[in-house]
Amino acid sequence: MKSDPIILTGKLKKFSKAQGADLFGVADLIPVQSFVSCHGPSWIGLFPKAVSIGMRLNDQIVDTHTPLEQRRNSLYWFHVYDVVTQALDFLAYDVARWLNDAGFKAFPVPGSRPYNTDNLTGIISHKLVAHLAGLGWIGKSCLLLTEEFGPRVRFVSILTDAPLKADSTADMQCGQCRICVDACPVRAFTGTEFKPDDALEIRFDAFKCSEYRREHPCGLCVSSCPKGKARNAKNKRRQG
Ligand code: SF4
Ligand code: SF4
Repeated sequence: MKSDPIILTGKLKKFSKAQGADLFGVADLIPVQSFVSCHGPSWIGLFPKAVSIGMRLNDQIVDTHTPLEQRRNSLYWFHVYDVVTQALDFLAYDVARWLNDAGFKAFPVPGSRPYNTDNLTGIISHKLVAHLAGLGWIGKSCLLLTEEFGPRVRFVSILTDAPLKADSTADMQCGQCRICVDACPVRAFTGTEFKPDDALEIRFDAFKCSEYRREHPCGLCVSSCPKGKARNAKNKRRQG
């Protein structure tokens, strides 16, 4: 049976939101297929679309964590990786199962697991998928900045061949801001704006960050960004 892309996408969005998604979008992977295939496995080409799902971080945990505390005691680390990332993995599994039941192929990409351990990249960049799905733009911190939550959100992707309606990309920039670049304790960012064809190394030294985070939970690039603080301030005004 032929599926109507708008109806199918609407139903999947409703299901995802009911299961806990804060953000939902669909990316068209065709224009970036050669780029993603040379960074991930070749079978990625079987999937012309990807669903991007975002879950926001808890503002109080982001604002109260101390970047220098030991990683093993960090509530921030526990929240980001043990709570939100796991919740996203379960949600991606449910979305993939929904798509399978509707008769389509679907592959839930793990939320945080390197596929290529030489350069610490995953099967596909969740941030790139979220950007292509119109959920935000990639800032100088190499994080996806969303209208609603700034960088205080994590993403997961589900690759699929379902004829979903793709969203258009949101192209905004950080402008003169360099707060995250200056806040990073190991100077992992170069301060270069994101361009889709540039290699990650032009903007970010993933090894410097990963080495530092072996001991310390950090997250200063998330907590210092004014785009995430704006929502926090709005919530406080609402409560006041
Ligand atoms: S987590 Fe910390 S060390 Fe890593 S890039 Fe962000 S600010 Fe730098
Ligand atoms: S802190 Fe400033 S430069 Fe860094 S990502 Fe946020 S808006 Fe962009």
